Amino acid sequence: MSIFFQTGSLPEPLAGLATLALDLRWSWNHAADRLWRRLDASLWERESNPWMLLQSVSRETLETLARDQDFVAQLSQLLAERERYLQEPGWYAAARGADGPAGIAYFSLEFGISEALPLYAGGLGVLAGDYLKSASDLGLPVVGIGLLYREGYFRQLIDPQGRQQESYPGNDPWQLPLQAVAEADGSPLTIELLLPGRTVRLRVWLVEVGRVRLYLLDSNDPFNAPQDRGITAKLYSGGQEPRLQQEYVLGVGGCKLLEVLGIEPEICHLNEGHSAFAVLERTRFLAQKHGLDFREAWWVARAGNVFTTHTAVDAAFDRFAPELVRKYARAYTEFSDLALHELLGLGRADPDDDAEPCNMAYLALRGCAHTNAVSRQHGDVSRALFSRLFPRWPLDEVPIGHVTNGVHVPSWDSRESDALWTQSCGKARWKGDAADLHEPLCDLSAAQLWEFAGARRASLVRHVRQVLGAQRGLRGETRQHIAEAAEVLDPNALTLGFARRFTAYKRPNLLLREPERLERLLLDATRPVQLVVAGKAHPDDTEGKHLIEQWQQFTHRSGVRGHVVFLADYDLGIAAQLVQGVDLWINTPSRPYEACGTSGMKVLVNGGLNLSVLDGWWAEAYTPEVGWAIDGDGDALDAETLYRLLENEVVPAFYERDADGIPQAWVARMRASLSQLTPAYSSNRMLRDYVEQLYRPAATAYRRRLADGGALAHELQAWSEALQRHWDHVHFGEVEARREGEDWLFHVPVYLGDLSPDSVRVELCALPGTCLAMQRESAITGAAHGYIYSVRVGAERPQDDYTARVRPWHAEAVLPSECGLIAWQR
Ligand SMILES: *Cc1c(COP(=O)(O)O)cnc(C)c1O
Repeated sequence: MSIFFQTGSLPEPLAGLATLALDLRWSWNHAADRLWRRLDASLWERESNPWMLLQSVSRETLETLARDQDFVAQLSQLLAERERYLQEPGWYAAARGADGPAGIAYFSLEFGISEALPLYAGGLGVLAGDYLKSASDLGLPVVGIGLLYREGYFRQLIDPQGRQQESYPGNDPWQLPLQAVAEADGSPLTIELLLPGRTVRLRVWLVEVGRVRLYLLDSNDPFNAPQDRGITAKLYSGGQEPRLQQEYVLGVGGCKLLEVLGIEPEICHLNEGHSAFAVLERTRFLAQKHGLDFREAWWVARAGNVFTTHTAVDAAFDRFAPELVRKYARAYTEFSDLALHELLGLGRADPDDDAEPCNMAYLALRGCAHTNAVSRQHGDVSRALFSRLFPRWPLDEVPIGHVTNGVHVPSWDSRESDALWTQSCGKARWKGDAADLHEPLCDLSAAQLWEFAGARRASLVRHVRQVLGAQRGLRGETRQHIAEAAEVLDPNALTLGFARRFTAYKRPNLLLREPERLERLLLDATRPVQLVVAGKAHPDDTEGKHLIEQWQQFTHRSGVRGHVVFLADYDLGIAAQLVQGVDLWINTPSRPYEACGTSGMKVLVNGGLNLSVLDGWWAEAYTPEVGWAIDGDGDALDAETLYRLLENEVVPAFYERDADGIPQAWVARMRASLSQLTPAYSSNRMLRDYVEQLYRPAATAYRRRLADGGALAHELQAWSEALQRHWDHVHFGEVEARREGEDWLFHVPVYLGDLSPDSVRVELCALPGTCLAMQRESAITGAAHGYIYSVRVGAERPQDDYTARVRPWHAEAVLPSECGLIAWQR
């Protein structure tokens, strides 16, 4: 008997099962579920992982199914359908046009595609997973680059004292839905990476996500020293050096992998700063391939690099000690002919401060011409966080825009909501731009919507009982206590969901601020409320763990038993169950620390409503029609608002029924939230935004700079060198303002010294808000590059509001991102 399942060992008529099981499209397309169930119904219920199932099923079952005409016919139908999906052009085929990118590499330290592939810790990974899935649906030419963690992120257990315990069950890569990437001769493909004093070999694994390929690097190769074999063992653990090594493997190793695979993407998208070393390696590659020097190649690469920043706190940026970075940088500069000092400076606010650590977000921002935040409000926060890199620039001109995150709707909808949407909007609703799904949903009757809400709540209750029973069993609880799990929750009670990372800024315990008040709310005899809670705390986060203990204590109060359930080991599977079944999703972060937040978006398609702090995405999505909002005024006020909203608005809206038993006010909100917010907060919308706002201009600039042997990159480098060299000499003469009727006529003498007037722009500003280009009128006699600039403005504002400034200018540069110099008259 072979230990590992071999696809070759499937009976011939069933060979296609392996093809289906290895394509993670099964995580959102459930057409094949009925086949998987027939392999082993009880295992399927436990672990919806077709690849695992294939390895566990008996030979006998396989032989029987291979003789079952009907099964074989269904299989071939599914394979044909898959082929159609892979071949269909998708939205991008038509949307791409002449200038859309031909290839995008997406780098991320985590990918949350399915609970069957545990390569994620939380929101960042789930977003990356949803991104890949939407890229597949839309036909965007994306490849993902990540790491394979043998132990992944920890699994959570709650011990009898209510404390979180962590375990790291090993991931056997052969049991995960992955394929080892091999050379033509069948030997494993490996990537060689120089670390200080040694070479490390990286193995390569492939995950198929529909038509998108995700490649994972893995340092567990027998060639490597034991310590190096562990570089990719765990996600987010270990000290500074292991983390630096992981990020080095991801960024530099990831680029080398693309090179080996012969993939030359026009866009490299860094999902968070972890992969920022990629900007260096991409530059080195372009320099070598096109015979450019490093700085010219930097201009080319930077044009095609996109950086998405995901955090709202400075402390969350990865920073590495200078000695440590120097050690790795030395190994790197050996073959990149980049000066060590210059390389180290790229990750510092002050490049000349040798004591400053290397900030990976700074490196990413410097190496990417295009940087975005993940919600409108996070744009404001990020511009402030990065303002040190743009000294003397007004905050609102710090070059960071935003693309609000979204969720992959087909991954988060329930069977019931899928049916409802199919009935009203058709099967193909998420394929294109989902412009207007509003009307069709409005045709659904209130009774239909309310019945739908009841069905999904009942299904959540069933599921929670099952999971809770299993979890109690795992803790070795008494038979009676396990049996009681089958009676928790009421399928007719207002059901609140609350699941997130347990960390201070998320304030998971705001709802517990007045435990008696919460208890009264839950136990109301005629209007009962129930609550399902889940979440992990990072193993090093003592405060987060303490917050979990507080919830455990609350759930053990005798009165509330059965009304509140804490589910251990929050993951994609538990998240899906919760968002599909709850009536209301609660989120109470401390403003403005939620960069976006995506869990609340997952309830939208399922008809769940949101009650949340006006932070992250909710600050732009909320209207009184669709849900409820908390202002974000500090813990005490926010807790009071939360309780008051629940008591005075949410509960009445849910329980005030008309003659037919329908809560019209609640259903109206469901309808508004479903139809108005679902398309807007979908990852399809997010990807379309990335294409139009970032990828398209980035690809265009990249191509132009690379054309003609990098002529434009050469010109831009010369332009910026001249500016750097001479900028200190730029200064102003006396400003003159003359009143002419309703206008001011401003004249400003500007002395540019050795700089050509074509390399700058002179502007007159009244901040915030107004900046007008000034015209060059005449040369100042006797001055080298001295000119009078003028502009006419309406005289609504006093003359003193205005000041002039000089900024670098080049039609082909992305500014001020690529050159942040500026000189102010005052
Ligand atoms: C969606 C999701 C998250 C992120 O939720 P936030 O609201 O952004 O905190 C984290 N973990 C899991 C398992 C998820 O499904």
